[in-house]
Amino acid sequence: MSESELLFKELSGYLKPEDVAQLQSAYQFSESAHHGQLRKSGDPYISHPIAVAKILAAWHLDAPALTAALLHDVVEDTQITQAEIQEKFGKTVAELVDGLSKLDKIEFQSLEEAQAENFRKMLLAMARDVRVILIKLADRLHNMRTLSSMSSDKRKRIARETLEIYAPIANRLGLDAIYRELQDLSFRYLYPTRYRVLAKAVKAVRGNRREVVEKISEAIKQRLLDASVDATVTGREKHLYSIYNKMIGKSLSFENVHDIYGFRIIAKDIPSCYLAVGALHSLYKPIPGKFKDYIAIPKVNGYQSLHTTLFGPFGVPIEVQIRSADMHKIAEAGVASHWLYKSSESSLNELQQKTHQWLQSLLEIQSESRDSVEFLEHLKIDLFPDQVYVFTHKGKIMALPRGATSVDFAYAVHTDIGNHCVAVKVNHELVPLRTPLSNGNQVEIITASHAKPNPTWLNYVVTAKARTHIRHFLRTMQFEESAQLGERLLEQALLALKSNNAALESRQWEKLLRDTGIKSKQDILADIGLGKRLGMVVARQLLSISENHNEGNALGPIFIRGSEGMVVQLAKCCRPIPGDPIIGFINKGQGMIVHTHDCLSIRKLSHDVDRWLDVEWDATANKLFNVGVQIVVENNPGVLAKIASEIAEAGSNIDHVAMEPDDGSSYTTIHFTLQASNRQHLSQITQNLRRVPEVIRVTRTKN
Ligand code: MN
Repeated sequence: MSESELLFKELSGYLKPEDVAQLQSAYQFSESAHHGQLRKSGDPYISHPIAVAKILAAWHLDAPALTAALLHDVVEDTQITQAEIQEKFGKTVAELVDGLSKLDKIEFQSLEEAQAENFRKMLLAMARDVRVILIKLADRLHNMRTLSSMSSDKRKRIARETLEIYAPIANRLGLDAIYRELQDLSFRYLYPTRYRVLAKAVKAVRGNRREVVEKISEAIKQRLLDASVDATVTGREKHLYSIYNKMIGKSLSFENVHDIYGFRIIAKDIPSCYLAVGALHSLYKPIPGKFKDYIAIPKVNGYQSLHTTLFGPFGVPIEVQIRSADMHKIAEAGVASHWLYKSSESSLNELQQKTHQWLQSLLEIQSESRDSVEFLEHLKIDLFPDQVYVFTHKGKIMALPRGATSVDFAYAVHTDIGNHCVAVKVNHELVPLRTPLSNGNQVEIITASHAKPNPTWLNYVVTAKARTHIRHFLRTMQFEESAQLGERLLEQALLALKSNNAALESRQWEKLLRDTGIKSKQDILADIGLGKRLGMVVARQLLSISENHNEGNALGPIFIRGSEGMVVQLAKCCRPIPGDPIIGFINKGQGMIVHTHDCLSIRKLSHDVDRWLDVEWDATANKLFNVGVQIVVENNPGVLAKIASEIAEAGSNIDHVAMEPDDGSSYTTIHFTLQASNRQHLSQITQNLRRVPEVIRVTRTKN
């Protein structure tokens, strides 16, 4: 069967015969109008309108919309006029085609201000008739599916425009499937290498995942059965772009993002949804703070579900969406469910009404807005829910990623503002710089000409711009200036020890330089000024006063640069090993505790910024460190021996091992404390462990 025959077969399935007849004549008309034209791929042009119509047929869109889809490029690309279309196919079709032709003239570069006017035109076309945008989205989807025949530059431009404009609109209209597909296709053409690498990684772990998914799925089904909840359970695959986005947005590793298992439960009605969530929470413990009730409070695009995240049987988080069959229809098809399920269900009517209201409000905003830019700003708030929108004290709106702080804001305004910020007023009240901003906050940064970036800001900024500039500043901060500051700080420390700079002899400095391997006195002073070394520590070293009373479980000072002369302990919570990004915390009476950057306990202590110290591993650190590793294995006789021998072969030792009690399943989780000299070594150990066929998962444990 040809593509057009397939299309008409589908159309006959839900349209009246006279409508199908009109569509036949629209198809003939379009084919002869496009006759002789080819697409970049070499296919006859008519293949494109057919494909677009097919996408719309899957949503059961009505005859005028499908007619317009078949004719959508004729006015633009052939001699046919608007008037001819109206004469042959009626006013509605002509208006839809006209709306689409106008949209086609718009080329978006990005969401830059210069494009605001075009964006506004598009949304106004949509506000007049939502079918226009549905056809446009189908048109874009087919163009994205066939993008590979375009030049690389064009591919990138179209992909970016899709990601920034069309995908968010699809999301706003609740068209979930097309939203995800547009994102994945854009990602593929915008970042081809990243896409390939990620796709490969996902494929590589798919086999292991399937087993885990099936096991969890069975457990959930059984529990729902026991609780007499009538529901279907399915596993969900994460889309590549959403994996990528999570990795970038939350700086997580592929493992961390991908180790989350997704499930969907479709129950027969709303009470069953709540019964199901109760049953689940008695099966696996819910992670506090992760339960969301979008049934009681739907998302703006009409989406309804209960969301919960559970601690799964292998220590993996499980994300579950629970909804009724009606809610599922809307979650999948959004505004298109109006055509897809021509029923009188109140939830569908309500969604229709809400979409209409939203589109009307766009019209209102546009008539009130002084200019396109302002209109666009209002709109972004609707379309990009993952961002926060805040105002400068002059009333200009700025978009920042969720979780951004005043320091991120300051750098977003201007690098100089960031570099010199000292305090912030949010809604006219002074708040700490690290406070995350919320939608609608009015933010005023207070600067001082002498102020400089503080290394501790790196603990809470979330934007790349802020991070880069803070790092850059710290690196290039005037060496002289740091050395001068360092000299003053050292003098203070020496005075506290009843000495002073002038009283020091040159041999004391020489000894210190020899011991530390640093080139010059100026370098040490600059280190003090930059906060890499503590004045008090250097003062003690110069005066040869040792502070090492507490030798017990302390490390020699040599392992951590910036800690010389202090008692250093590695935090028990995160157990850092060389190669991990680390930070030191000065604990009165206990010296310094070293944590990893991503350690959760840092956040609890983060208000005490003065006690944090930027430290680094010393390259010469050469010993074995304890590290927590959790292994999920299939229960087989002799598996522990195999694991132990792989660990030994990798040059590591087992310091401690604990097995989780047997729960009758065929898998067991074993908690090891292993010894590794650094991250590279740990990864070697992990690789060895993965050679054991019974090993399902190996993860490093922190906290
Ligand atoms: Mn087209």
